[in-house]
Amino acid sequence: MNNEQKTPKRRTPIAVACRLADCYFFEGVKDSEMGLALCSHPEKELYVSNHSCPLYRFDWQNALKKRNGVT
Ligand code: SF4
Repeated sequence: MNNEQKTPKRRTPIAVACRLADCYFFEGVKDSEMGLALCSHPEKELYVSNHSCPLYRFDWQNALKKRNGVT
């Protein structure tokens, strides 16, 4: 099962405190000084106050693309 089959991304990412750029739901940096990123996980609102994000999912496909020089 790949990432796309597990959890659909929200269409409009939300700004959250996150620096985990290798997460499948990480859509880009919103404010690097503040540590804000755009997150596309559909349930992130439920966990915005958590110190560490329980929704983190390593983006294996993107990592493999980078490793193979595809991106
Ligand atoms: S799911 Fe969590 S770790 Fe992944 S981008 Fe969103 S806030 Fe960051």
